[in-house]
Amino acid sequence: MLCHNFAAAQLIRAQHGAMRVWGERYNRDLQRYNLALRMIAHEARTHTICDWTGLPDDRIRHLYQSYVDEHGKRHVLRRRGPSPQSLTVFFGTARSRSEAAALVGLCYLLEVLPTRTLDDPRRELPSVARGERLCEAYEMYRQLVPETSMTLEHLVLLVMTVSQGQEFEVTQCASCGGVVVLDRGALRRGDCAHCNEHRHFINEGCQSIR
Ligand SMILES: [Zn+2]
Repeated sequence: MLCHNFAAAQLIRAQHGAMRVWGERYNRDLQRYNLALRMIAHEARTHTICDWTGLPDDRIRHLYQSYVDEHGKRHVLRRRGPSPQSLTVFFGTARSRSEAAALVGLCYLLEVLPTRTLDDPRRELPSVARGERLCEAYEMYRQLVPETSMTLEHLVLLVMTVSQGQEFEVTQCASCGGVVVLDRGALRRGDCAHCNEHRHFINEGCQSIR
């Protein structure tokens, strides 16, 4: 009888262990799928979603189709071709410089950006947990600046470039202390776009008074 009880207890323990492993795997898969759907809603390309979720591209295509079936084609754009690569989108205008700085600030705040530079951010950065924080930063930014033309993939490019630390330098505005993203290749004063504009306005004002 004792032997029988022992065997039953062992069986229950084994079943409990298997359920726990299965539950953990189920939760991990669910997280991947949820992140993929979130990125589809932000019009990320299939290969970007594969990188961050670890899901194969045929699964992403199925998910995209089910997303369209549920929400209608009007509500999601499927971008094709390579992801944005040009960094000029972050420096073209005072506004784009401000937007890049604000996005970088948010990404540091939400720990999307690492505190050290990385040799190979495209390999080291993507993970489901960081992908969730990336979406959170982007969604928060869209709430603050709904008219932005920055896409989630622009944010991915920004995060990768800042993490590598070769093209961009993140520093503080010499005047107001705000976040500034500087192009290492350009000789610019380390002020934010807002302070630059303000100084320009004051100088113009002084010249017209003279
Ligand atoms: Zn400033």
